[in-house]
Amino acid sequence: MKKAGELLAYFFDQKTLTSIHTWSKLFSAWPSIVTKHKIAAAESHTRVVEFDRRVLLIEAEHPGWIQILQIKQSELLQEFQSRFPDLDIVGISFRLSRTPFTPAIRMPEPRLPETPSKPVEEDTANLSNKERFKRSMKRLEQSVIARERARVRGDFNKEPQRGIKPHSEDAVAFHSSAWIESKHCLLCPRHCGVNRTAGERGYCGESATLRLAAASIHRGEEPPVSGTGGSGAIFVSGCNLGCAFCQNYQISHKGMGREVAITEFVAICLQLQALGAENINIVTGTHAIPAIVAGLKQARAGGLVIPTLWNSSAYESLEALSLLDDVIDVYLPDLKTLDPNLAAHFFNAPDYPEYATKAILRMLDTRALRASASSTLTSGVIIRHLVLPGYLEATRKTLRWFAEHCQGRALISVMTQYTLPRGMDMRVKDAPKRFMSEQDYETVLGWLEEFGIEDGFYQELTPDSDWLPDFTRQNPFSSTLSTAVWHFQSP
Ligand code: SF4
Repeated sequence: MKKAGELLAYFFDQKTLTSIHTWSKLFSAWPSIVTKHKIAAAESHTRVVEFDRRVLLIEAEHPGWIQILQIKQSELLQEFQSRFPDLDIVGISFRLSRTPFTPAIRMPEPRLPETPSKPVEEDTANLSNKERFKRSMKRLEQSVIARERARVRGDFNKEPQRGIKPHSEDAVAFHSSAWIESKHCLLCPRHCGVNRTAGERGYCGESATLRLAAASIHRGEEPPVSGTGGSGAIFVSGCNLGCAFCQNYQISHKGMGREVAITEFVAICLQLQALGAENINIVTGTHAIPAIVAGLKQARAGGLVIPTLWNSSAYESLEALSLLDDVIDVYLPDLKTLDPNLAAHFFNAPDYPEYATKAILRMLDTRALRASASSTLTSGVIIRHLVLPGYLEATRKTLRWFAEHCQGRALISVMTQYTLPRGMDMRVKDAPKRFMSEQDYETVLGWLEEFGIEDGFYQELTPDSDWLPDFTRQNPFSSTLSTAVWHFQSP
């Protein structure tokens, strides 16, 4: 086993060591911060585990703790920013821990060596709890490894869009179709590192086995998606983003659904096709990419000929998207916001804008707009943006970005149907609690004109929530919108 001093010397120069010293204070400050902000007992159930890309990652042993911390997220961020101004912290992110917290681990301030070569064992006599120190060093090591992985991924992002090749042994995991079969799931930007094959669950809440909630012929999508036959929507259980106001929260947050074998997935695809679906529309499958890729390949071999659509939040890594190159024809990514604070607050993902814009640009580079004789898309990208009442400025920025980067290469779909699903209103404070107003609507339409955006769609204003799905029903949507084909409670 490496001595801590050797480990540090191996990884860092003196300048970096100084910054690590600040980081160690960052880790150990957590108990006093939660105590100051009166989050009772949080120090025993939550902890700082990583600081990456100027975002602090806090681990909690139960989803309830994440909700409590989210309520105080702004205060906690301000506290960290005022205590550690040199670190330029921009956000706080949360995730579930894969190991229980008992006994509670308090982070002592690690005693770092004066020079990289000084063995830490010499200092351990001064430590009150050697075991605790070893644990903190282990955590530091994991943080370093995580940063190195992020750096490697960053290098890959500069590679050409197709045919990305791994550059190091460590990177092989990112490019293997067995990502989630390895011990550390790094499939999406959350990079939880859990062993899903062994049944562990990360932020998405899913093990390695594909689970589905429902499948239906859907007529409520954009015209080039629904066409005349309707879109063959397949709803995947779980989600790696978990928006605070998700209309599908029963499956994305609560995990409704059941495991399906690849043969059942193929059968669902072929049944949708047989019933006249214009396409296969995979809804929120980012965390299940390897299984879905395998399923779609087998469906193609079994006679699936209609186009395939990838309907996602766009919180996806370029490496994961590359796995879809051979099986997906049309992309329907969301572009929820370009504001990191809003993304941190509502999605617990301050890096959402960075990942989503890169993902969308990659989609644009790989799929030109093409339509069939019946005007349904056979290739291309439709970018969806849901307007949040009360946060119109975020919509303006998003539309401007679309105009500057996507105009002429993709279609936009402006969604005005925001409503807060029942049961979700206590999740995050400041979530809009009203429909979009007519005044807001006119403002947004004015921006489309201002930015010269002509290619796309916008919804009529719908000031009701009757359309909200209920996945406990065999047909979660209204019968005018959809025809049920498969449900997780079906025999
Ligand atoms: S796919 Fe799930 S477990 Fe894997 S990194 Fe993303 S959220 Fe974590």
